[in-house]
Amino acid sequence: MTRTAYAEINLHALRHNYALAKRQLPHTHVWAVVKSNGYGHGLLRVAQALPEADGFALINLEDALALRHAGIQSRILLLEGAIEARELEEAAAWQLDVVLRSEHQLQWLRACGQRLRVWVKVNTGMNRFGFVPERAIEVVNEVRALGCEVAGLMTHFACADDLAIKLDAPWQRFMQAVDATGLPFTAANSAATLRAGFTHGAAVRLGGLLYNNNPFYPDTSLWLQGLRPVMRFAARIVHTSELQAGESIGYGAAYTAERPMRIGIVGAGYGDGYPRAAPSGTPVLVNGCRVPLLGRVAMNVLAIDLSQHPQVDIGDEVTLWGDPALPCDEIAWRCGTISEELQCALTSRLPIRQIVADKTLSPLPDEQTPPVECAAYL
Ligand SMILES: *Cc1c(COP(=O)(O)O)cnc(C)c1O
Repeated sequence: MTRTAYAEINLHALRHNYALAKRQLPHTHVWAVVKSNGYGHGLLRVAQALPEADGFALINLEDALALRHAGIQSRILLLEGAIEARELEEAAAWQLDVVLRSEHQLQWLRACGQRLRVWVKVNTGMNRFGFVPERAIEVVNEVRALGCEVAGLMTHFACADDLAIKLDAPWQRFMQAVDATGLPFTAANSAATLRAGFTHGAAVRLGGLLYNNNPFYPDTSLWLQGLRPVMRFAARIVHTSELQAGESIGYGAAYTAERPMRIGIVGAGYGDGYPRAAPSGTPVLVNGCRVPLLGRVAMNVLAIDLSQHPQVDIGDEVTLWGDPALPCDEIAWRCGTISEELQCALTSRLPIRQIVADKTLSPLPDEQTPPVECAAYL
């Protein structure tokens, strides 16, 4: 069967976003976070598109080894360190940086006898992993005594993406350990990087931002202007039909027409990764114009309103997210979630197309495509 939906991964945009972040952050290393299959964009695809990255950060040892096997020699940080003792041997053999975030892991480190490069994690309120500051200071000394290099201290904020919650309290806890040890540190994810320069330290760990996901959406006041969508989710119209006033469409008859309407049936559904939670009214882009989704998203199709677009026909393409005029953040927000969840949830049946970089690594021009004139909607 011919696939009617696909995701397009724009590696040029990814590189542009990395370069933009780098330009904003000349004094700190910028690690690209590529956990969870590069936030759904493809682990190797993303990493190989960023050969200039200061480092990569991820969770699974297997992913780190995949990068090493692909010849990537950059610094790689295991964000949660070893999941079992034997992983420390591998980490040493493949020159991975490891986070040390529990007494368990410290026990394994004592036993393994490898000279690893370690980031000691301080718990500043997330309360999942990490040492309290007082213990972190002791751990630093012990790790050194074991012959390992302590590259620095690390923390991860619980509430960086909530601008109503100050970073003061976690920051003071972290600084207790930083001041006592004088070590370099890495603390910031995308949200902290954008909101608080004092968190930048030796390295920031950027995930969402590189993929154009604004952690504060719909607040755009701190957003870095000029970032580009990396993933575009697109599908073709496979059918058109008419609804009379009073007729409804799709499962559960969840949407009923109040007037005669022209309907487009788009060949994408939750079987591809478009969220079933998207309510009627969620925008879809047709010829650069936003039109609303109607009724329930099915496994293979969804319905849109083409009443204002009589010229749009079967075979025409619509963008479901990932255009400057329709960011993934907006779709996620309307579904009560975040872009990362949608991007990670693309299904394996969805074909991926790549927009490969220009031969030159020059940054993308900052030209603004002129807005398209649309029938009033949203
Ligand atoms: C995922 C992750 C990040 C990146 O977070 P973003 O908000 O996507 O930038 C940074 N640090 C740790 C420890 C993470 O797990």
